[in-house]
Amino acid sequence: MPYADKERQHEYDRKKYLKNREKVLARSKASYYANLEKNRQYRREYAKKNREKNNAYHRHWRKNLQSSESKAHERKRASEWGKKNLDKLISRNRRYNTKYPIKYIAHVCVKLAIETGLLARPKNCSRCGASGRIEAHHPDYSLMLEVVWLCPICHKSEHLTPTPKSEPQQEER
Ligand SMILES: [Zn+2]
Ligand SMILES: [Zn+2]
Repeated sequence: MPYADKERQHEYDRKKYLKNREKVLARSKASYYANLEKNRQYRREYAKKNREKNNAYHRHWRKNLQSSESKAHERKRASEWGKKNLDKLISRNRRYNTKYPIKYIAHVCVKLAIETGLLARPKNCSRCGASGRIEAHHPDYSLMLEVVWLCPICHKSEHLTPTPKSEPQQEER
């Protein structure tokens, strides 16, 4: 101990710590910016490589581990965001609909078919049997009333698995 006095020792240690802290922070900041592109690339590749694993885990989490409170909280937050950002939501939907007109038309067709009783939305997912929210999935958008009824989890995984006919695509909500 260079100082016999405890107070002085404490002050000395603190100064040393602060001086070093700035140096360490500056160094890590510099390396962060120097490797920004490299790190970004690495993260992208990592996510790509582990996509299936992450998706599987996420599916598992949603199905088995996510608490009902957490689910309710997520839903509440999304609906609150929608209420507050109605204009954003509308313009986002409009952009989406002009970008993918066939999806939009297919979506409207299903909605009308349900309203007129031409199609009935089942209570359960046709793949896993889960109840709750059931969505219409179009294997082929040109066959607008040919839908597969899926729960949100199966629906998402359906869109993430590339089929020989179609590339993986964004979901039609
Ligand atoms: Zn399902
Ligand atoms: Zn779909």
